[in-house]
Amino acid sequence: MESSGPVEDLASDSEGAGALGSAPPGGRDSDPRRRIPRTDHLLEHPRVTAAGAALGPQVLRGIIRAVQDRARAGQIAPEEVLEQVLAAIGDRPAASLRPVLNATGVIVHTNLGRAPLSDAARQAMLEASGYTDVEFDLGTGARARRGAGARSALLAACPEAEDALVVNNGAAALLLATAALGGRGEIIISRGELIEIGAGFRLPDLIASTGARIREVGTTNRTHLADYTRALGPDTGAVLRIHTSNYRVIGFTSAVDVAELTGPCRESGVPLIADLGSGLLGPEPRLPEEPDLGSALRDGADLVIASGDKLLGGPQAGILLGRTEMIAQLARHPMARAVRADKLTLAALEATLTGPPPPVTGSLHADAGHLRDRTEALAQQIGGRVVPHDGRVGGGGGAEVPLPGWALALEEELAAPLRTGDPAVVGTLRGGELLLDLRCVPHTAQTQLAGAVEAARERLREQSRSGHDGDDRR
Ligand SMILES: *Cc1c(COP(=O)(O)O)cnc(C)c1O
Repeated sequence: MESSGPVEDLASDSEGAGALGSAPPGGRDSDPRRRIPRTDHLLEHPRVTAAGAALGPQVLRGIIRAVQDRARAGQIAPEEVLEQVLAAIGDRPAASLRPVLNATGVIVHTNLGRAPLSDAARQAMLEASGYTDVEFDLGTGARARRGAGARSALLAACPEAEDALVVNNGAAALLLATAALGGRGEIIISRGELIEIGAGFRLPDLIASTGARIREVGTTNRTHLADYTRALGPDTGAVLRIHTSNYRVIGFTSAVDVAELTGPCRESGVPLIADLGSGLLGPEPRLPEEPDLGSALRDGADLVIASGDKLLGGPQAGILLGRTEMIAQLARHPMARAVRADKLTLAALEATLTGPPPPVTGSLHADAGHLRDRTEALAQQIGGRVVPHDGRVGGGGGAEVPLPGWALALEEELAAPLRTGDPAVVGTLRGGELLLDLRCVPHTAQTQLAGAVEAARERLREQSRSGHDGDDRR
């Protein structure tokens, strides 16, 4: 076998054979395993260092060893080791999270990382990723309030709030609010609002974990003002209204508005907290039922809670807006330090608020006619049927509100190779077909999507040629 230039450079000499240590009897010199490149030679090879610049030495060594093992087992020739190592490095990004084209039509998809960030937010995160003045006044050289920029942006976007605090996520915001304001007292909550937010996480359990006691009032479908006023007393720490963001109770129902609760809460000197979830800063015409932060504050809530990565369209964050003294009380609580937001979050949140509308807003407002044109253009490229398909807000709010649109119906068998392709594409299976909805696929990614479908079809053809139908990429 003839070896090419770089492989010759790498091929182990007699000391390399010693390193292998397990040459079989019967002629060491004829053993092809002697020609397997040595680990240290591979690690120093310019092509390996260039390709593996984002990987640490431990990971590179692991990749190299795995390829050498295949050569030792005779699965590849020693001369192929370098190229195989380079290929393995190429397939191995520094982090295992892979980009996904979300073709489900579900805008805030928790399993797919909720809100995709705006270009402005991505850029801001990159700029904040080194040393940055997150808690430092460059003018005076003194320590400063952490995340002042994100706070100002929130107050500008929601003028009804006197002050703001950003924490790790919505659940952390609720935890901090109930721990700091509820204290050792009771938190009054309607039985219709004791919700599970997903993957088995239940808000009542979260609240109870702070040591606060939950005082349930009303019934599952109906709670009246008198239920709250009867429960208010010396033991009350706070009254909490939770928006049932992921389900709806319809039929014979009633709930008490924030505005109605303010009077009794003020009289008793008890804070009124509203957990709204979605993070809409103001009313949203596409989602008339979805409560917004500004309106809840105007109606008299003392504190409102939301997530940053739902309809606000920003990074994972918990947003607390409300009265000065209440935000100060939260910021002073020891738990605030445990749930504080990091500099990347603060940078991305500020840029989301001050920049152009984020992708979530674009997807929410996507025009059905325009979606149809895009879907038909895709069908021209890759085939398939254009069918009506409703998008959804998803876990971020707007429960059960259909967002009229279109999808491309393709053969169901494409689902698995598309999911495991590069980029990964996730659609919806319905009635034996795979539906690809372009609502949440950026216009600029449409060519990539078409390419991914072609590549998935090619993989299916290869699989049927090699006579098995499973997915063998993983
Ligand atoms: C989503 C949601 C939460 C939890 O927020 P995370 O940011 O997911 O931690 C809490 N309350 C409501 C009403 C929600 O919709």
